[in-house]
Amino acid sequence: MNTSKTRVVIVGAGQAGGRAAEALRAAGHTGPITLIGEEVHLPYERPQLSKAILLDSEPNPAFIRNANGWAELDVKLSTSSRAVAADVNRREIGLKDGKTFAFDQLLLATGTRPRRMPELERGPLPVNYLRCMDDALALRSALQPGKNVVLVGGGVIGLEVASAAIARGCHVTVIEKAATVLPQVGSAVLSRYAETLHTAKGVCIRCGVSVKRATADGIELSDGTVVLADVILVGIGVEASVEIAQQLGLKGQQGIKVDTSGATGIDGVYAAGDVAEQWSPCHGRWMRLENWANAQNQAIATAKNMSGETTVYEAPPWFWTDQHGINIQIVGHPGAGEEIVRGDVAGGRFTTLSVRDGEVVGGIAANTARDMSVLRRLVVSRKRVSRDDLENPHFELKRSLVS
Ligand code: NAP
Repeated sequence: MNTSKTRVVIVGAGQAGGRAAEALRAAGHTGPITLIGEEVHLPYERPQLSKAILLDSEPNPAFIRNANGWAELDVKLSTSSRAVAADVNRREIGLKDGKTFAFDQLLLATGTRPRRMPELERGPLPVNYLRCMDDALALRSALQPGKNVVLVGGGVIGLEVASAAIARGCHVTVIEKAATVLPQVGSAVLSRYAETLHTAKGVCIRCGVSVKRATADGIELSDGTVVLADVILVGIGVEASVEIAQQLGLKGQQGIKVDTSGATGIDGVYAAGDVAEQWSPCHGRWMRLENWANAQNQAIATAKNMSGETTVYEAPPWFWTDQHGINIQIVGHPGAGEEIVRGDVAGGRFTTLSVRDGEVVGGIAANTARDMSVLRRLVVSRKRVSRDDLENPHFELKRSLVS
């Protein structure tokens, strides 16, 4: 039971940890809350790291609250603090500097870290990754006009940074080992569109090749070609930070399994955000949802449950990406069904719906943000849809919610 004596410790002061601390107070938790974060910065939102921080005339981090705001909330923030130990019997978290924090309830919001590429790190050029504010500020300084920027990985980081680097006057190459960019989205329509868009903006897209080794002035690829590089950024996905969870006895390597309340298998221990592995009905598998909406909303739902409310969190994955001024939003699992395309792909304004067994399991809205609210409701409701209607350009999409 959550009382005024219940001590909550949150490990991980990113968006999930920060929003959970706020939500605990909003839900009436009156006991002590400690928020432990490794970075020197106060909790901030990450989407801007690969967008506005690289592009704006001045970097302007989106902090969740300022220091006074955290004090007003009576949340004890321990920044520059690396949690390295956890004892499930003593119910205690230990920091690298030896400090310990006892908890009654624990929220693990430890997030993920970039997968590294040792074969490039052995070379003479520095290799950048992009996960935290300091990474983004360093990358921002490196993106100078005329520089040869090589982005390894044609996922969201690779393509968003490609867009920013072009805007900053760099020469940009994206290297993706899969046959298309954005392979993990699973939409042939989107992958083709993104490739055409980036190519038109001057990005050199190299798919189906991988990194062989670093050379004195660039990267040798699997097909023997060498790409010149002044700046290298590797964005080839992430791995979950599960060390603390493992010390508590939680087993997963890919993430920390949670139910729809955010609870792990240990009483009083919860997980939220990128590190939490949840069952995704539209994917039909356990997975981590690595996006802003999940970091915020699943953390808030978990905090409510920790405070004694009963809230079920089972929103489908939803994220957006901005590339060369085009806003692309993705919901559910576009790769799980047959794609129906509405609108004008060549003109950069279209919507896709992926239909499996008569239900919409995913969709994409490219510069058609209004369609996204319909797509989300269709994915959540699992309402049966008529393919003929969806393929009819005169059929208003929102009518599929009622027809
Ligand atoms: P990502 O979106 O998973 O993309 C990584 C890409 O790198 C994939 O296309 C992957 O292809 C490819 N890849 C893997 N190994 C490779 C290799 N050896 N050589 C070349 N390509 C390789 O991950 P990310 O772009 O690194 O982003 C990291 C995290 O930040 C993710 O959690 C992401 O969701 C988050 N993020 C989100 C946004 C947003 O929501 N707008 C923006 C930035 C970052 P395969 O799939 O075939 O392995």
